[in-house]
Amino acid sequence: MSVKPFKDKIWLASPTMHGDEQEYVKEAFDTNWVSTVGKNLEKLEQGICGYVGCSHAVALSAGTAALHLAVKLAGVTKGDKVMCSDLTFAATVNPVSYEQGVQVFIDSERDTWNMDPEALEKAFQKYPDTKAVIVVNLYGTPAKLEEIQEICRKYHAVLIEDAAESLGATFKGKQTGTFGTYGIISFNGNKIITTSGGGVLLTDEKDAADKARFWSTQARENVPWYQHKELGYNYRMSNILAGIGRGQMRHLEEHRIRKKEIYQRYQQGLRGLPVTMNPFLEYTEPNFWLSCILLDKGTDVTPDKIREKLQEYHAESRPIWKPMHLQPVYEKHDFITAAEGVDVGKDIFRRGLCLPSDIKMTEQEQETVIEIIKRCFKS
Ligand SMILES: *Cc1c(COP(=O)(O)O)cnc(C)c1O
Repeated sequence: MSVKPFKDKIWLASPTMHGDEQEYVKEAFDTNWVSTVGKNLEKLEQGICGYVGCSHAVALSAGTAALHLAVKLAGVTKGDKVMCSDLTFAATVNPVSYEQGVQVFIDSERDTWNMDPEALEKAFQKYPDTKAVIVVNLYGTPAKLEEIQEICRKYHAVLIEDAAESLGATFKGKQTGTFGTYGIISFNGNKIITTSGGGVLLTDEKDAADKARFWSTQARENVPWYQHKELGYNYRMSNILAGIGRGQMRHLEEHRIRKKEIYQRYQQGLRGLPVTMNPFLEYTEPNFWLSCILLDKGTDVTPDKIREKLQEYHAESRPIWKPMHLQPVYEKHDFITAAEGVDVGKDIFRRGLCLPSDIKMTEQEQETVIEIIKRCFKS
C-alpha cells in the first residue's frame, strides 16, 4: 500500500454540518429573534430533555458555564472540598475555583479510564464532609456511575456529572448526564454535536433550573426596574446558536453510529499491534466520541512518535488529557489513588493517544491512518 500525505487534513474531531442548522438560523433571522430568547432555545431545550430523559435543560453559552452554575447549585462556597475526576480537561474542575472551593483529585480505574470508586471511597474517609463530586465520562465512555452515585448518597455529597463529551452514551440503557443531581453537556465545536460554542445544564429539579436561568441572565429580580439581590452572569445561549443545535440534534444518532464505526475499524485494523483501545464496561454503550489507543507496557514506540508521524501525513491526533494533579495550577491539591503509589491516570497519559475520530473521514482515509500507525511499529 502506498501512503501519501492527505491533501485535506484529517481532523481529530471537527464540526459536521448538514444544512438543517442553517434553516433554523434563518428562521431566527426572519422572525428577528436574534437574542437570548426565542423558539430555537425552547425547541433545543425540549429536544435535549426528551432525548436524555430529564425534566429540565437550560441552554448556556458553554459547557463550562453549565459546570459553574452546577457548582453554585450544589452550594459550594469558600473552602468547600469537591472531589473531581483527575484525568480530564481543566474545564471540568476550574469552576470549583471560581467559587473558591478546593478540588481533591481522584485517580482513574483501568476499566473505563474514569474516576475510580475505590479511590473515591478512600477520599471520603479522609474528607467525610466533602460537598460535591464531579465525575466525567471521558471520551464518551460512561464511568462506573452507579457505584459513584451510591458513594455520594452514603456521604450526602451532591453528584455533578460532566457529560460534556458523552451526549448519547448510555449506562444500562440510561443516558449519561442524568446520573447526578446536575448534569452538563457541551456543544463546543469538537464535540459529537455542536452549536459552535455552547452547553446545557440538566436537572430534574424545577427550582434548580429556574435558579440557573435566573443566574445566567444577570440575576435580575422580577420588578420593573433593575434590581439585584444576587450576583448574576451573562451565560445564556443565543437563539442563533440554539438554531444550530436544533438542527444538529436531528443528526445525533447518525453521528453516534459513525463514531462507533470508526472505533470498530481501528479495533479491527490495529489488531496484532501492541496496543489496546479505550475500554468500556459491557453494560454501557459509549458514544465513541474519540477513539484512543494505549500502547502496551514496554513498547519502544511512543505515543509522541505516532502523533508526529500522523502529523507528517496531515492527520491530527492528540495526547490524552494531562491529569489535573500534574498541572502546575493545581500542584498543591490532594490526589487520591486506590492503591498506595499507583498512579493510573499518569500511566494512561504517558502511554495513550487520541486518534483521528472525525466522522467526515472516509473508510479509505481511515485505512490509510491505520497503515501509517502500523508502519510506526516496523523497525
Ligand atoms: C469540552 C469539555 C468541557 C467544556 O465545555 P465547553 O463547552 O468547551 O465550555 C468540560 N468538560 C469536558 C470533559 C470537556 O471535554
